[in-house]
Amino acid sequence: MSGWDEDEDEMSVGQMKQFLSSHGASFADCVEKSELRQRVRETKRKLSQSSPPHHRQQQSQQSAQSQPSQMKTCDCMQKGTDHVRASSSTAAANSSMGESKPTGVIIRQLAVGPLQCNMVIIADEVTKEGVLIDPGGDADKILALISGLGVRIVSILVTHAHFDHFLAAEEVRTATHARLHLHPSDRPLWDAIHIQCAMIGIAAPKQPIQPPDADLADGQTLTISQQSHLHCRVIHTPGHSPGSCCFYVEKAKLCFTGDTLFKGSVGRTDLMGGNSAQLIRSIQEKLYSLPPDTHCIPGHGESTNIEHEAKYNAVVRAKGTKTASASLASSAL
Ligand SMILES: [Zn+2]
Ligand SMILES: [Zn+2]
Repeated sequence: MSGWDEDEDEMSVGQMKQFLSSHGASFADCVEKSELRQRVRETKRKLSQSSPPHHRQQQSQQSAQSQPSQMKTCDCMQKGTDHVRASSSTAAANSSMGESKPTGVIIRQLAVGPLQCNMVIIADEVTKEGVLIDPGGDADKILALISGLGVRIVSILVTHAHFDHFLAAEEVRTATHARLHLHPSDRPLWDAIHIQCAMIGIAAPKQPIQPPDADLADGQTLTISQQSHLHCRVIHTPGHSPGSCCFYVEKAKLCFTGDTLFKGSVGRTDLMGGNSAQLIRSIQEKLYSLPPDTHCIPGHGESTNIEHEAKYNAVVRAKGTKTASASLASSAL
């Protein structure tokens, strides 16, 4: 734990902010270093009066990590025996990140909708500002989670416009007043949601889904929380669909890989606009170039990391490594 055993006079500004953030104390109104130091002293005093500091830390970690992930890989636009459903409707990404969980950042993952898409909320613990990725269904569950966390969703990001990633988009957008972002190359898929639902045999959303509010672009930086300098970078990764994007949060060593990269597999490319060569290029050049210890949360199934996939993915590995045994044609999960 940062800060408990250190003298406040010896702590840097960053260490003091990290300490306050990890103990739920506000420091937004502290302008001078001396004010921060005073806030650290007050916080330590309050915490030591309520419970021993190490016990308190364990409690907070346990509550943040109480829901294990139990999901298996699945894919969009596929229904039947080869589509393995998630066995749990809820999972906490924080738990699977273990020791690498960044301090000061809330990450909550929920498998939603008919294909159990991984909806994720990432927010700053202090400012409570955050973004929501892939509202794929179960709007009531998503809104209950937002309310329970007490976060304010400033943006909704959609990795791509297969129906299972935005079925609840309109209800969540209406309730949160957040701006919804999508890459323009997936706009034809977005507009064809009723056709997508009919093809798979599920009911289309009751509430008509309006157009996205803003376009995503490769290299664009989106703000998660202005005050805490928490941002994510948009990585355009066409292949699974023309407008597929991944979202990289450098500060949290975390990448949301949508249906481009799964644990042990990759997204299928035989749907409208899919392209195998593009998918391989996107993964090898744009994702495998991220730091190896980057934690990846895919659009379905279990989390993984860049190093593991670059070495062992069954379909696409890093350039120069031993050729993977499975072919893209058989990767339709
Ligand atoms: Zn999907
Ligand atoms: Zn998809």
